[in-house]
Amino acid sequence: MPCIFVNYYIDFIMYRLEYHGGFESAHQLTNAYEEKCNASIHGHNWKVKIVIETEKLSKRNMVIDFSELKDVLNAFDHKNLNLVIAPIEPTAENLAQLIHGGVVQRLKKYFDIKPRVAITLWETDKSSITYYENSPSVDRQDEATIDKENEF
Ligand SMILES: [Zn+2]
Repeated sequence: MPCIFVNYYIDFIMYRLEYHGGFESAHQLTNAYEEKCNASIHGHNWKVKIVIETEKLSKRNMVIDFSELKDVLNAFDHKNLNLVIAPIEPTAENLAQLIHGGVVQRLKKYFDIKPRVAITLWETDKSSITYYENSPSVDRQDEATIDKENEF
């Protein structure tokens, strides 16, 4: 009987940081298919949501300084992505992965462990991609539910 409570407690996330930001930049996809993003260089007003989950705070009593997350996004602001991230193709998927890498790199100053990070990047109001390594909280909630069901 105590196992049910213990399993649920271990999976519980203590801190979930969300940062909402964005940047404006230009790109032109070079891979071989005929779509708007291939036709010519053009701009997007990218929107970004950064989610960081951790069971404990860093030695600085925070998850991360929000300004560090803004700095990660500012590296792409008012830039030609074809030049800034070359030779990587400047797709939304690759951009989300690069932002993820920037956030993970900055978290190393705060944590010895690796907090869970998810990046959602909107190219338009209706189109987004989410990149994450390690399971996001939704998956973890499913795992907790499964554990509880198994105990019953
Ligand atoms: Zn585009």
